[in-house]
Amino acid sequence: MNALALALLLQSAVAAEPAAVASPPVDPRASRAPDLVEVITLDPSLRTDVRYATANNFTGRAVYAQARVFLQRPAAEAVVAAHRALAEHGYGLLLFDGYRPWRVTKLFWEVTPREKRDFVANPARGSKHNRGCAVDLTLFERKTGREVAMPSAYDDFTEKAAPDYAGGTAEQRAARDLLRRTMERFGFSVEPNEWWHYNCAGWQEWPLLDVPFEDL
Ligand SMILES: [Zn+2]
Repeated sequence: MNALALALLLQSAVAAEPAAVASPPVDPRASRAPDLVEVITLDPSLRTDVRYATANNFTGRAVYAQARVFLQRPAAEAVVAAHRALAEHGYGLLLFDGYRPWRVTKLFWEVTPREKRDFVANPARGSKHNRGCAVDLTLFERKTGREVAMPSAYDDFTEKAAPDYAGGTAEQRAARDLLRRTMERFGFSVEPNEWWHYNCAGWQEWPLLDVPFEDL
């Protein structure tokens, strides 16, 4: 068997490998009752581009039935506050993703090759997205509505996605760093390898959920 055939065989083996668990893990620290709110209802001047509801994402297919972004209420309110604070710089927030049903995290794990799994959550532990306490977002320019260029695209699974990546243009890095400073001011922390992913403070207190959007 040549190397290419072997690589393809391994890839299909990875894709076919089911996750070992069938339901979201229960976190004993999670004491709060879910209070998911659709973020844009709190401020309709936010923008959304829910690529997981389209085929334009790393899986190549729609994994959400609806293009909506939900977060636990305190996180949603903090996103709105950050969005309003960015207005003085001429920017607003463009939301890619928030609460993610656990079954979708499981699907991401199953379709992601082993060497890229640092970029997806292990369903055995779950994702902060499953808690409604992580948000993927970027900046848009208020004047034009255009998405602001960053050192990498959203869901770029390379070193360019690191929040401290030194490449790209000075302008792109400045935009990425302004996003980070602003989100940190409102209680979020950036994911170490994804400039677009922010976790809300106290994420441990929210349970991992598997409720589809259409049931919210
Ligand atoms: Zn994320």
